[in-house]
Amino acid sequence: MISFKDFNFHPDIDESIDAMGFTKPTPVQVSTIPIILENKDLIACAQTGTGKTAAFLLPVLQKIVEEDDFEGTKLLVIVPTRELAMQIDQHLQGFTYFIPVSTVAVFGGGAGDVWDQQKSAIASGVNIIIATPGRLISLINLDYLRAENLRTLVLDEADRMLDMGFYDDIIRIITKLPKKRQTLMFSATMPPKIRQLAKKILTSPEEVNISIAKPAEGVLQGAYLVHDEQKPALIMDLLRDKPELKSILVFSATKLNVKQLYRQLKAQGFSCNAIHSDLEQHERVTVLNDFKNRKFQILVATDIVSRGIDIESIDLVINYDVPSDAEDYVHRVGRTARAEMTGVALTFINSRDVRSFKNIETLIDSEVHKLPLPPHIGQGPEYTVSRGYTSDYPKRKGAPKKGFRKDRKKVRKDQP
Ligand code: ADP
Ligand code: MG
Repeated sequence: MISFKDFNFHPDIDESIDAMGFTKPTPVQVSTIPIILENKDLIACAQTGTGKTAAFLLPVLQKIVEEDDFEGTKLLVIVPTRELAMQIDQHLQGFTYFIPVSTVAVFGGGAGDVWDQQKSAIASGVNIIIATPGRLISLINLDYLRAENLRTLVLDEADRMLDMGFYDDIIRIITKLPKKRQTLMFSATMPPKIRQLAKKILTSPEEVNISIAKPAEGVLQGAYLVHDEQKPALIMDLLRDKPELKSILVFSATKLNVKQLYRQLKAQGFSCNAIHSDLEQHERVTVLNDFKNRKFQILVATDIVSRGIDIESIDLVINYDVPSDAEDYVHRVGRTARAEMTGVALTFINSRDVRSFKNIETLIDSEVHKLPLPPHIGQGPEYTVSRGYTSDYPKRKGAPKKGFRKDRKKVRKDQP
């Protein structure tokens, strides 16, 4: 068994690892840290929650400390979202407690003084920059970035960044960096477009592949076949009287749904809050921090928090809607059972989503247990891919027959 001592880190780094409460490296850390210490390029694929952040931060910090060179920007980490930038920055604060490196997290959406702080940190050659692509490009356009001392570039959640359309930005940023550098790519999945990007920007990379796309062990997964009209009753049923579950994440497909569900839960007296893209950045930060600090029990969220954001020990994840992207399912379920704890993930499947859920089962290579609905909720849909229209289809131009529409309205009226 390998321990952190085997990496021969500087005592200050070992001390910060202790302070973080890490006792042994995770598998992705075991495989990638030696490669990074050898200054090789790397592409690493491992699912959410496997400890990728420390896997790149620790060896990079070790090299900075070893060379005792704190001049200029050494490390640039590009991440898809501001939440992730802040989270990595927090990790970094922990690891650099005993080390005199300067760091800055750079992302859009803050007030003017934040922008000024970011600008002056970058212009002064801060040692470590964690940035979202858009904001970094703005700074580059203003000619603030001083990259001549850069030794390492990290692309974190690379798959997510490509999904969000950051390919061109990434390439543009890279043209501003020294050619002689180490480049590390981390991704939860390895679709062909990630391989193409790797080919373009990495030099004879080592490859580490820890995950096949499977939720972490220790997650109990279940699913309910349930019509849209039955979902509110089912979720109330699942959430009621569960004080033993300290942190519950509920994901819904759209911010409209998130807001609506939040209002319903609030009205029923649940301790809850919601996060979606309509919130200002400081509001999002507050909500996430309050959730982390267990100031409320249930967080209803759109996709924005499903990937990469590190909230420890979620007891229960509910997918109120099936995520349309099968990989998102893995990310969301990865919110529970992080770092070897246990958690439960439940998914609501309406007849429209059966096909997507079957895709998920194919991706994770296992069948998720279908749980029976509580009797008072009634009969749910079948687990078969539906042809034609069912009551779960949204209104579509020219499609539904009159009789069907009436039927649908009647069901709706019965709702609380
Ligand atoms: P990923 O980037 O792979 O999704 P993170 O780097 O965010 O995962 O780590 C997930 C969680 O596991 C964090 O709370 C982190 O502090 C914790 N963690 C990471 N490495 C270890 C370790 N070696 N021992 C214990 N906890 C760890
Ligand atoms: Mg990560």
